[in-house]
Amino acid sequence: MAAVKVFPLKCVVQHYAWGKVGLESEVAKLTLSDDPSIAIEQEKPYAELWMGAHPKGDAIICDNRIPQKTLGEWIAKHPDCLGSKVKDIFQGQLPFLFKVLSVNISLSIQAHPTKELAVKLHTQFPDRYPDKNHKPEMAIALTPFEGLCGFRPVEEIIGFLKNVPEFRTVIGNEAAEVLENNTGDPRHVSDALKKCFTRMMNCEKKTFIDQLNMLVKRVLQEDDAGKDTTGSNGELLLRLHSQFPGDVGCFVIYFLNLVKLQPGEAMFLGANEPHAYLYGDCIECMACSDNTVRAGLTPKFIDVQTLCEMLNYTPAPAREKIFPSVRDPCDPCVSLYDPPVPDFTVIKIEVPSSVKRYKVASIDSASILLVIRGEATSTASPSEVNIRRGSVLFIAANEGVGLCIRSVDGMLLFRACCML
Ligand SMILES: [Zn+2]
Repeated sequence: MAAVKVFPLKCVVQHYAWGKVGLESEVAKLTLSDDPSIAIEQEKPYAELWMGAHPKGDAIICDNRIPQKTLGEWIAKHPDCLGSKVKDIFQGQLPFLFKVLSVNISLSIQAHPTKELAVKLHTQFPDRYPDKNHKPEMAIALTPFEGLCGFRPVEEIIGFLKNVPEFRTVIGNEAAEVLENNTGDPRHVSDALKKCFTRMMNCEKKTFIDQLNMLVKRVLQEDDAGKDTTGSNGELLLRLHSQFPGDVGCFVIYFLNLVKLQPGEAMFLGANEPHAYLYGDCIECMACSDNTVRAGLTPKFIDVQTLCEMLNYTPAPAREKIFPSVRDPCDPCVSLYDPPVPDFTVIKIEVPSSVKRYKVASIDSASILLVIRGEATSTASPSEVNIRRGSVLFIAANEGVGLCIRSVDGMLLFRACCML
């Protein structure tokens, strides 16, 4: 019998406290749709679905013809399934981790180091920085999705320095004036931004807590009086302060863009880009790494010095943070989200209801396919597999998968791979 090269996976759910609970969570809904026999607990958070071979969440193979239990074990035995280039460049490892996230409470504000910095940090502090790899990430919204990303245009930050005196106090007048007086030369702007941000992160704890309490009190009073609080970013401030009272992240909202994604829109988070996911459900793909430097909205350790040194202090408007997808000229069903890193590409496949047979193209990379909508029988050799919403398939390099589509409203699929 021919070797099995396409098979379903049962993926690992992570129940982090910030996840949406019970069936509010897209992660729970997908898991239940894939396997109706599982019980979803209504009070329990279903934060992340991990589709990959990461040691902390290696997917289980659902094909009793395969002796290996997990995807990681199978890839170790069949490294050629990765594709020749991927196998060589990434030393026989699947280079990406594919996820679904359901965010109810903000995740910590963070940034991920470049490869060079990751090596340095890992050597110096192996406990804090567990590996030598960079961790570029991309989020593609499944529902309206909110996040913080990148430094705002300087005029917006200067506006907050004027409207939010508590923010100005935390930064200090001297640094604030440097920013206000340096709006021309981009290099001076970045230096001034760095100075302001570093001052805030190093602000004495008492000053900082006092100012935050004053600010929250003032915004609440204005809110009660029916006043518009957008000049203080009031709605977001109160929301984050209720989730993380007394946290420095509550002031970070005056530095970073609030980015709102519609379903299908993406955000790419390259090295040193400050970001935080605030609310919503998304697909996420990332390089295999755990290296995270935190900046707030977290009870965890913040490495202030590394953080302030590493960040990308180039200001840009929120709309520039939306990462464009590109239509495949050869296949009208396919859009590519292809970030400027070698580790991963995400492909969106949207098959219209008029199409009943569709071929998922073979590529020179192992890939993982997730069904968001629709039902089909896949005719991958050597046997058929029924897939539906929530199903996850592993596809070895250079294998195509034919789909006989049964659903009346077409299909929506996301596929992670590595295009070198
Ligand atoms: Zn991140």
